Amino acid sequence: MSLSKLRAGIAKRTGGDAGNFGALDVEVREEFSSVVLEGRVPDWRLKVELGWFAAGFGYKGVVNDLEVEGIEEERLAPSFPAGDRPLEGRSFDVAIIGGGVVGCAIARELAKWKVSAVLLEKEEDVAAHTSSRNDGMIHDGFAARPGTRKAAYNVRGNRLWEPLAGELRIDFSRPGSLVVFGSSAAKAAYPIMAARAKENGVDGWEFWSRKRLLAEEPNVTDGQHGAFFLPSAGIVSPYRATVALAESAAANGVEFSLGTCALGLEKEGGRITRVLTNRGDFRAAVVVNAAGNWSDAVAGMAGDRFFSLHQRRGVEMILDANAGRHLNHIMAMPSLLTVNRKTKGGGLVKTVEGNVLVGPTAAEAPGRENYATTAAELRELEKHLRLNKKLSPSMVITYFAGVRACTYEEDFIVERSERVPNLVHAAGIQSPGLASAPAVAEDVVRLALEALAATKRVSRNAAFVAARRAAPELRRLPFAERAALIAKNPAYGRIVCRCEEVSEGEIRDALRSPLPAASLDAVKRRARPGMGRCHGGFCTPRVMEIVADELGIPLDEVTKKGPGSRIACGQTKAGAEGGRQ
Ligand SMILES: Cc1cc2nc3c(=O)[nH]c(=O)nc-3n(C[C@H](O)[C@H](O)[C@H](O)COP(=O)(O)OP(=O)(O)OC[C@H]3O[C@@H](n4cnc5c(N)ncnc54)[C@H](O)[C@@H]3O)c2cc1C
Repeated sequence: MSLSKLRAGIAKRTGGDAGNFGALDVEVREEFSSVVLEGRVPDWRLKVELGWFAAGFGYKGVVNDLEVEGIEEERLAPSFPAGDRPLEGRSFDVAIIGGGVVGCAIARELAKWKVSAVLLEKEEDVAAHTSSRNDGMIHDGFAARPGTRKAAYNVRGNRLWEPLAGELRIDFSRPGSLVVFGSSAAKAAYPIMAARAKENGVDGWEFWSRKRLLAEEPNVTDGQHGAFFLPSAGIVSPYRATVALAESAAANGVEFSLGTCALGLEKEGGRITRVLTNRGDFRAAVVVNAAGNWSDAVAGMAGDRFFSLHQRRGVEMILDANAGRHLNHIMAMPSLLTVNRKTKGGGLVKTVEGNVLVGPTAAEAPGRENYATTAAELRELEKHLRLNKKLSPSMVITYFAGVRACTYEEDFIVERSERVPNLVHAAGIQSPGLASAPAVAEDVVRLALEALAATKRVSRNAAFVAARRAAPELRRLPFAERAALIAKNPAYGRIVCRCEEVSEGEIRDALRSPLPAASLDAVKRRARPGMGRCHGGFCTPRVMEIVADELGIPLDEVTKKGPGSRIACGQTKAGAEGGRQ
C-alpha cells in the first residue's frame, strides 16, 4: 500500500504528473483502510479504469466517488409508494436486505435455525433483478481467477446445487462445458487451462480431440481443433431456483416483506438497532446486506461503505425451445489466452427448458438497473452462433440484459463488517453469483449466527423441512397422472399458454404459492406462461383475468411488475352503464 505511488499513477492516467497531480480534478485519500477517489472525470470508462488501477494497491476496498460529466448519480428509491406500515415497531433476530438468489439462499439456510427472520425486497417479487437476468449456468469454477473468493465459492456452490435442487424440486442438469479450440494455438493452451482448473479445485476436466468433439457435439462448426471439457458445469432455471429458495424459506418460517425498501439503518453505540423502510421501521439484532447492485448504498446506510460498485452489463439472446436439440453441451469459444480476466467470455447455454441462450456480452456502463439493449450489442452476440452449424438468428425469440454488481477488486465480499459488528455483507456478488449462492449462504449464516450470539443463544430448527412442496407441472406428467389431476380440478385441463402448455390450474397455483405471485412477471417466474415463442401475445389477457380473479382486483389494476406497470388503462368500449360491449 503506497498512497504516493497510487497518486502518481492516477496523475499519469489523468494527463499530468505527480507534481501537478494530473490535468483532471481527481483527489485520492485513505479512509478506514480503503482508498477514496473523488473529483470529476470526462467519461465513465476512465472512472472505472481508475478504480481498477487503485484496486491494485492492496487497500481493503476502493470507494470510487468520481463524478462523470453528463451522468447523474443514481439514488436508491422505493418502487412502492408509502402506504401501510406492517413492519412498524416489530423486532427480528435477522433482517436480510435483498431478494435475489443470494438473499433467498441465505433466508433458506437461516431457516435451519431457530431465529426470527425477515427478508426485505424492494420490488413486488423476488428475483426481479440480476437473479432472473442471467444464463442459469452452475459454473464449474474454471473461469474464476485462482485464489479469489469467487473461485472458492463457485467450486463449493457447484457441489451444493445438485442436492439442493433435489430438495427444492427444481430441474438441474450437468451437460458439462466445452471450451472449443478454434486454432492450434488455442489447443496448445490446454496444459495452462488444466493447471488453472487444478488450482481452483474444479471437479474434473478432460482434453477432447477433434474426433471426440465431433462425436459428442456433432453440430459444432468445421475447423475446430478439439476442446477443453469440464463435466461439472450444470444448469438451473435462475428465476425458478430463486423463487424455490424463497418459497422453501417462507414455508419454514422466514417472513418475506415484498415491496419493502430499506432506506436507512439507525445505529446506537456503533451497532445497528433499527431498519427504516417504506413499510415501517423495526428492530433487528443482525442485518445482512444482500442488496445486489445497491449493496454499496446499503453498506453506506450503516456508515460502512468501504467499497463501491461499478456495473457490467450483459446482453443475451434467447433462441426457440427447438434450438436446444442441436446442442448437447454448454459451449464457449475463448481460450485461456484470450479470456478477458473480468468475464468468462460468453457462449451458448441450453436452458433446462431446452431454449438456447446466446451470450452474454460484458460492457462497463452506468445504470444499476439499466436493461435496455442496443443493436450493436445484439450484433456482437451473433459471433457465438458461429459455434454451431444449426443455430441461426431466425431462431431468436427475444433479448434481455442484466447488470453484474462488481467491486473494483473484482471479487465477492462475504464478511462481517469490521466497523458495525451486527452487519454481514454478501456484496459485489457478480458472476458466478448464481453458482456460488448456496456456498455464500452457508458462510453468511455462520457469520450472522456469530453476530447474533452477542444477544441470543441459537439452536437448530428441528422442524425445518428440506423438501419443498412444488406445484404440479402438467406438461411433464405422464398422461394418467394428468388425467387424474384434471379429474380432481378441471382448471388443470384448461390450457392458457399454448406455447409452454401452461394450464389455468398452474397459474392459480402460482398465485397461491407460499410466496404468492401478485404480478404477471411473478406468475411467469413460477409457471412460465408467456415464456414461449409468441411471448405472451395470445395468453396475456387470459392470465390477467386469472390474476384479477385471484387477487380480487379489477382487470385494469393488474400489473406487469408492481407500481407503474399497469397493462390496461381502461375499457375501450364502455356502454351506457359502463359495462363491457
Ligand atoms: C448477463 C448475466 C449473466 C450471468 N450469468 C451467470 C451464470 O450463468 N451463472 C452464475 O453463477 N452467475 C451468472 N451471473 C451473475 C448472477 O446473475 C449474479 O451474481 C446473481 O444473480 C446476484 O444475485 P444477488 O442476489 O446478489 O443480486 P440481485 O439478483 O440483483 O438481488 C438483489 C436484490 O436486492 C434488492 N434490493 C436492493 N436494494 C434494496 C433495498 N435497499 N431494500 C430492499 N431490497 C433491495 C433488489 O431489488 C434485488 O432484487 C450473470 C449475470 C449477468 C448480468
